[in-house]
Amino acid sequence: MKKIALHWQILIALGLALIVGILVRQLPEGAQGLVLATFEFIGKIFLQALRMLIVPLIVSSIINGVSGIGTGEGVGRLGFKTLSYYVATTLFATIIGLSTVNLIRPGISNGLPVGELIGLSEDTAEVMEKIGHQDATQLVDIFLRMVPTNIVAAAANGEMLGLIVFSLLFGLAMTRLKGQHAEILSGFWHAIFYVMMRLTEWIMLFAPIGVFALVAKVVILTGLGALKPLFSLLFTVLLALGIHFFIVLPLLLKFVGGIRPIDHFKGMAPALLTAFSTSSSSATLPITMECLEKRAGLSNRMTSFVIPLGATVNMDGTALYESIVAMFIAQAYGIDLSITTQFTVVLLALLTSIGVAGIPSASLVAIVIILEAVGLPIEGVGLVLGIDRILDMCRTAVNVFSDTCGAVIIGHTEGEKPYVKP
Ligand code: ASP
Repeated sequence: MKKIALHWQILIALGLALIVGILVRQLPEGAQGLVLATFEFIGKIFLQALRMLIVPLIVSSIINGVSGIGTGEGVGRLGFKTLSYYVATTLFATIIGLSTVNLIRPGISNGLPVGELIGLSEDTAEVMEKIGHQDATQLVDIFLRMVPTNIVAAAANGEMLGLIVFSLLFGLAMTRLKGQHAEILSGFWHAIFYVMMRLTEWIMLFAPIGVFALVAKVVILTGLGALKPLFSLLFTVLLALGIHFFIVLPLLLKFVGGIRPIDHFKGMAPALLTAFSTSSSSATLPITMECLEKRAGLSNRMTSFVIPLGATVNMDGTALYESIVAMFIAQAYGIDLSITTQFTVVLLALLTSIGVAGIPSASLVAIVIILEAVGLPIEGVGLVLGIDRILDMCRTAVNVFSDTCGAVIIGHTEGEKPYVKP
């Protein structure tokens, strides 16, 4: 029997999860709880298996990527291109978000601010406690976190920014080594990296099961009814994400990268579907790298440099979401934001999206920072809780897609030919 391609397997798993999730909601509470616990367990194992790979994968791939470029000059050039791509696409995304939210005004319904119509979600207090007190000084923190005092603690606490900076410096220092030392170290990091990729392949075999469990769990917990009162916001975010995903990035692919967008969508399907169901760019990282190397034929050197950095730093979907939600909350409370304040929102969305971790719901923290900074009521976050999860799934897929577009586009400018069979 012919084996079904992985992305089809995952897609089928997604469809089944929707159906099973809705059916399980009809069960009596006890039985529902049992199924839910089982799905939670399976989903958790899948996520943990992916997370297990993150630290060694980020470190080994960045060190390999940077040291493999050869000279400090090469690293500088590639670094400049990569960062320019990140900033440009994130800025595009934020502007799309801001324009859409100003046009559709999802925070106003029949001339009334939505806040009055739906009231705040009940678990706002709980979330606020979880998020803790945030303010604009947290922005400075992003820069502080780039220089960890203890690299082992940074790894243990999942502080990726610090880990990335350390690995970049390590790789850069390696380019200065000569002779035997250079060979030993480069062989060592290469070997680690290949072992991590092999482990990724094994875990990917379980992706359809993991995806099924994770998505079914969300459907059982929230049902589809949770979406109704916030339909307009949902529509605004999806429209803006859609414009970025289906129009802006494909145009860049075609005209800057010389790549047929359809090839890239197909090639990246497993990574996109995993991002969608895990809501975590970091957890998806191993699969993203695997897809770029095996399906797009991008060099290991390019993938190792652009992707681990992108998974943490480049979050187009997140920046877009943050700016829409900040504006939505202003509208929902009947507050008009001046152009200058809206500009501040754009800037903060750009900066905070760099600091946001690639984990589920991480944006909520950044949104609180933005609300504080522009003087909006932070309780407003409660308004979006009901639909945050589903939007998280979509924005994470956009985050990951933008990383992969960056990798192939920059690869193209460096003389590589993704999707062209040798
Ligand atoms: N879940 C997102 C990611 O991992 C981050 C966020 O926007 O919450 O990319």
